[in-house]
Amino acid sequence: MHRNVKEILYTQEEITQKCKELAKQIMNDYHDKNLLMVGLLKGSVPFLAELSKFVNLDVTFDYMDVSSYEGVESKAITIKKDLDQEVKGKDILLVEDILDTGKTLTTVKAMLLERGAASVEIVTMLDKKEGRTYPIEAKYVGFDIPNAFVVGFGLDFDEKYRNLPYVGILKEECYL
Ligand code: 5GP
Repeated sequence: MHRNVKEILYTQEEITQKCKELAKQIMNDYHDKNLLMVGLLKGSVPFLAELSKFVNLDVTFDYMDVSSYEGVESKAITIKKDLDQEVKGKDILLVEDILDTGKTLTTVKAMLLERGAASVEIVTMLDKKEGRTYPIEAKYVGFDIPNAFVVGFGLDFDEKYRNLPYVGILKEECYL
């Protein structure tokens, strides 16, 4: 375990097992649809890679990088990298590492629907329901977690720890 991690919440094996379960549900719901999986950079990359291995459908992929300003009470987000393709008529599954306040995904979802996506749903590896301030839910949730700051499997602190093969709670002395 990394010296700055206090506790491991989910191991690589548990995450892989969860990805298999989520992929089954996704295949069930999307087998007759035009599925486009959209990863939100950068945190979703390891989860998207693991999950998509088990999604046995003709799925296409794209990526978006958006940032929202902390502490500002507005839905405004900046698009740092937009999708490469048109979304009109596509069934989009947004892939996130963690759903917290819901601000990012609320804005992205509204934007993609406005562009003519046939549907927009969310799959998130982790759900911090206590943190929610926007009325949005993920259709597929890996794990519900308490309100702690977690790192690993894509999640960073100061751009570090994304490569940890597990999700763990960061020691408080690292960020206080
Ligand atoms: P929100 O749902 O608040 O718009 O934003 C979710 C984003 O907040 C995530 O993609 C992630 O970047 C960040 N975030 C929220 N909670 C945590 C956490 O516990 N650990 C890390 N590393 N990032 C988090």
